[in-house]
Amino acid sequence: MKIKKVLVTGGAGYIGSHTCVELLQEGYDVVCADNFVNSSPIAMDRVAQITGKTIPVHELDFCDYPAVKKFFTNETVDAVIHFAGHKAVGESVENPLKYYENNLLSLINLCKAMGKDIRKNLVFSSSATVYGFPDQLPIEEDSPVDSFNPYGRTKLFIEQILQDIWATDNAWNISILRYFNPVAAHPSGLIGEDPAGIPNNLMPYIAQVAIGRLERLRIFGADYDTPDGTGVRDFIHVVDLAKGHVAAMRKLETSPGLMVHNLGTGRGYSVLELVNTFAEVNNVQVPYEIVGRRPGDVAANYASTDKAKKELGWEAQCGIRQMVLDTWNWQSKNPNGYSFD
Ligand code: NAD
Ligand code: UDP
Repeated sequence: MKIKKVLVTGGAGYIGSHTCVELLQEGYDVVCADNFVNSSPIAMDRVAQITGKTIPVHELDFCDYPAVKKFFTNETVDAVIHFAGHKAVGESVENPLKYYENNLLSLINLCKAMGKDIRKNLVFSSSATVYGFPDQLPIEEDSPVDSFNPYGRTKLFIEQILQDIWATDNAWNISILRYFNPVAAHPSGLIGEDPAGIPNNLMPYIAQVAIGRLERLRIFGADYDTPDGTGVRDFIHVVDLAKGHVAAMRKLETSPGLMVHNLGTGRGYSVLELVNTFAEVNNVQVPYEIVGRRPGDVAANYASTDKAKKELGWEAQCGIRQMVLDTWNWQSKNPNGYSFD
């Protein structure tokens, strides 16, 4: 089935806004729905600025089933890319019910509403966190899955729910995408990651130290069994990641079914390498100190990219220098994220 019109849930968020840009640039009709619990509507104005296209933006909480049902009664879409959800690991440990409620309920409501239609094309944001502590690198899609925190478990449960839905009704076409570490920003500097409060993730933390909003980075552990002792991750440029969604959606048009793909670069960089590259390429200072390990962190992970290359015809293009350049471009043009516009 030819996909023309796409609903992006959580479309005002970090990855969602970049995906809206790529979809629009590829000629899709796009509708965004978001409750703005972790984003700003300004992001959608910026998407319009980049693409020259203004799209419908609906304020909608996917936990509110009557509202979701009403949305699908009024709008006909050919596919849904589902980003809406909470994503902070630490917060999920402190408040698991918030995560189970929001992430599971919004997915269930979405699938219930979509299930009434003939068009059941769904792309879902999963995470490399479902691989838990990987026993081999690079991580292939058929590696064992496990999770050690409520956030990760919401991803695992949702993957299972999607498998179950598909097993009972093959009219569904489902793409599960397991992201490695999304970083950076659109090269225009108009959209990027705008974490609420103090960032949990490494790249926005580095950027806020460089701009002077935070005093110094704390590097969690330099005693891992890695080349320089710091953790190793597969950082992927958010624009590459967004393009991966377009490729996955295209694949649903030609080969229906349920599929699972890693979205990563296949190359790991250490925390220290990222910090040093950021400082050097952008000619800024990033003061840091080494502290103890963060509980639950794996020493190293990076993706096997073979399956995505072969089946989706997609591979990441941007290297680490582009990632730190684009991060700094966004951070320095928007020192306080979207909040000062
Ligand atoms: P984000 O917080 O920037 O975007 C999520 C969006 O969903 C926000 O705009 C938020 O307002 C919205 N939202 C949350 N709950 C909602 C609800 N009930 N109804 C409507 N809208 C709701 O996060 P992101 O980094 O863009 O992540 C997008 C998705 O990708 C999430 O599902 C996340 O778990 C997943 N993911 C992210 C990463 C990462 O490192 N950023 C890694 C792996 C997976
Ligand atoms: N990290 C760090 N200091 C920070 C944030 C992260 O040293 O302030 C490290 C973390 O221990 C891990 C890597 O950076 O080795 C990536 O962490 P992040 O939270 O960005 O992503 P994760 O891989 O945990 O999903």
